[in-house]
Amino acid sequence: AKEAGRNAYVVFAEWMSDSAEQQFRLLADLRRAIELNQLFLQYQPKVRVSTHQVSGAEALIRWQHPEQGLIPPDRFIRLAERSGVINDIGRWALNEACRQLRRWHDAGHDTWSVSVNLSPIQFGSPHLLQEVSDALEIHRVEPRRLVLEITESAVMRDTETSLRLLQSLARLGVGISIDDFGTGYSSLLYLKRLPATEIKIDHAFVRDLENSSEDVVIVSAIVALGHALDMDIVAEGVETAGQRAYLERLGCDFLQGYLLGRPVDPERFMQLHDLPRPR
Ligand code: C2E
Ligand code: CA
Ligand code: CA
Ligand code: CA
Repeated sequence: AKEAGRNAYVVFAEWMSDSAEQQFRLLADLRRAIELNQLFLQYQPKVRVSTHQVSGAEALIRWQHPEQGLIPPDRFIRLAERSGVINDIGRWALNEACRQLRRWHDAGHDTWSVSVNLSPIQFGSPHLLQEVSDALEIHRVEPRRLVLEITESAVMRDTETSLRLLQSLARLGVGISIDDFGTGYSSLLYLKRLPATEIKIDHAFVRDLENSSEDVVIVSAIVALGHALDMDIVAEGVETAGQRAYLERLGCDFLQGYLLGRPVDPERFMQLHDLPRPR
């Protein structure tokens, strides 16, 4: 019987493609990851150009898998989206980020904000608005200290419904950030109707800034557009002092990237960015 079991397993493994089988197992594990406390958030600083001070952090999810070690979001978010598990994970991340924000505020960092990434799937959920307002209430977070990052593609998918949801979220008073700006298929006409407070310029336009006059033109156009629409401009993926110099000169309001700080655990974030100041 033991032998037969083993053969059955071999047949199974050969029949399924390796990656499909891996995905299948990963999903089974992912479904339990929240209750088993395997998910956690790291925080990357967002620095205000005018003051060079940390204004807040972006929460980035990680999965500490018992056998596979640390798994980055690029390896499980898509899977979570396809299976619907993302709604649970997203709700967990939202609450965890608000809980952390409350701790930081209690420790004196009451001007910090936290940005949370929303999946397009969550954005399509009828419960999102209630979940956000619940999280704010439970953790006693001022709405303007929470920023929701939404990709262009999510917003553009179903424009009228998305627009209504965004307007409701904006009425709560939370910040709304358009993530990975410039990489999707956004309509500029539509952009003016979005109640967004912030645009995040994708890495792709930052990477070659020092050598590409085209990228300089694109970044300055995004800055002009965003400012004309009364939005803040965040540049992400800033890795070099040269890139920072360009981005500052081009008028970006906030910078994020390894140069300013890598994503770290919340305790480390406090240690690194805790400036002594009068209270
Ligand atoms: P994103 O929202 O565009 O986040 C930025 C990614 O760039 C992060 O990767 C961050 O660690 C990385 N990064 C930051 N600074 C630099 C830099 O200077 N250079 C380079 N090369 N990379 C930098 P990460 O943490 O692996 O996250 C990847 C993506 O996973 C995120 O892209 C976001 O789309 C998604 N994600 C992360 N956390 C969540 C979450 O809680 N919910 C959802 N739905 N998606 C999430
Ligand atoms: Ca993001
Ligand atoms: Ca991004
Ligand atoms: Ca991205």
